[in-house]
Amino acid sequence: MAKTKENSMEKFVSFCKRRGFIFQSSEIYGGFSSCYDYGPLGVELKNNVKRAWWRAMVQENRDIVGLDASILMSPKVWQASGHLTEGFADPMVECKKCHKRFRPDHLEDKKRCPECGGELTGARQFNLMMKTSVGPVEDTASEAYLRAETCQGIYMNFENVRDSMRLKIPFGIAQIGKAFRNEITPGNFTFRMREFEQMEMQYFTNPKEKARHFKKLKEARLKWYLDLGIEKKKLKFHEQTPDELAHYSKAAFDIEYEFPFGVDELEGIHDRGDWDLSNHSEHSKQDLRYFDDQTKEKYFPHVIETSAGADRAALTFLLDAFSVVHGGRTKTTESAKEEEFVLKIDKRLAPIKVAILPLSKKPELAKPAQEIFDELKQEWQIQYDETGSIGRRYRRQDEIGTPYCVTFDFDSPKDKAVTVRDRDTMEQERVKIDELKIYFREKLGD
Ligand code: ATP
Repeated sequence: MAKTKENSMEKFVSFCKRRGFIFQSSEIYGGFSSCYDYGPLGVELKNNVKRAWWRAMVQENRDIVGLDASILMSPKVWQASGHLTEGFADPMVECKKCHKRFRPDHLEDKKRCPECGGELTGARQFNLMMKTSVGPVEDTASEAYLRAETCQGIYMNFENVRDSMRLKIPFGIAQIGKAFRNEITPGNFTFRMREFEQMEMQYFTNPKEKARHFKKLKEARLKWYLDLGIEKKKLKFHEQTPDELAHYSKAAFDIEYEFPFGVDELEGIHDRGDWDLSNHSEHSKQDLRYFDDQTKEKYFPHVIETSAGADRAALTFLLDAFSVVHGGRTKTTESAKEEEFVLKIDKRLAPIKVAILPLSKKPELAKPAQEIFDELKQEWQIQYDETGSIGRRYRRQDEIGTPYCVTFDFDSPKDKAVTVRDRDTMEQERVKIDELKIYFREKLGD
């Protein structure tokens, strides 16, 4: 039995569709470029990723609080942040022949179009902000933008949050929410989309202390991925060179992951200096400086940002856990050549935690098995499955990463116990039915 982690994106993308993780948006109309929908298992997984992030950021830190700001904001925000004036984000080159645009840092040959071989322009700034209009009648409505990053909502609420929660520097504000970018080179499945979700935390600090906080946050963010099971050798830091830095950034480290399509950014940890608060102060004429009542200093706090993509993290957790096993792991495959998929994902992220499988559909087994289902569903997202052979049912659960299967068999009514099977070791253990909740609380945590 050979087990490999295969690098085939094609196989992975079709697996995501077949097992209800990720679908193309508007598929019956031929799809809609770079937009994806999360299916029943995908939404559970992504919610678990967001929950794990929120727990690590907000719940477990005394000095970090949460926020949920609106997507639409005054266009003045984007004027002040530099997104409209600086030509947001990336310089682009355009092919003079086919007019496709590319990021020069993604091209090996910077002179020729990778698609048609045409001559490329020099690098220019193109605006990636998505425009919309707000108001009842379009021609009188005012122009607005869908936010391109969630952190501006945090800066808008810096004073509200500090004041209402009586916070003292240093403190952080965390937020999860949608962001929109008219990406020029979207692609690689959900890696780069035009609508995506960010998990961002802005940590406001005294500039004199920021080096210490930067180091701590950088380490904490890498540890988060490792604790949730990402393979260590596939993760690394990349320090951005001065020409890679965004207009607001003073220093930046990317956490990079070895994706099947190449090594690329998973999350950024940025020193944004006082760019945002000082610019918003200037443009809004509101004093956003912080007054330290101990030292009597008044200053613009500096910001350390940790900026992760919820979709990109979910994709990484899925890819990292996706294993292809050749030749009969569960003895339901017919030949050594046949493949089985196993999703060896951390239990906290698994979409379904437990599957309840009566050995037969007969009511004497199905009925008590359903009672177990009704009991356990109050605490965890679980599934009930009575169709097909038990081997096939195990296999289906292994594919979607369910850590435990509970089999109710013909002995169960007599010994009041069930068999619990572990996804990774495939070991089976007999557990008393009335001890199942305690058993899974220990195994699964919250
Ligand atoms: P990239 O260089 O990959 O386009 P970026 O440097 O522009 O990313 P940031 O602005 O730092 O990205 O955004 C922070 C995080 O948000 C990224 O690390 C990524 O996880 C996520 N992200 C950014 N753009 C997208 C996108 N188009 N689709 C999905 N996730 C994204």
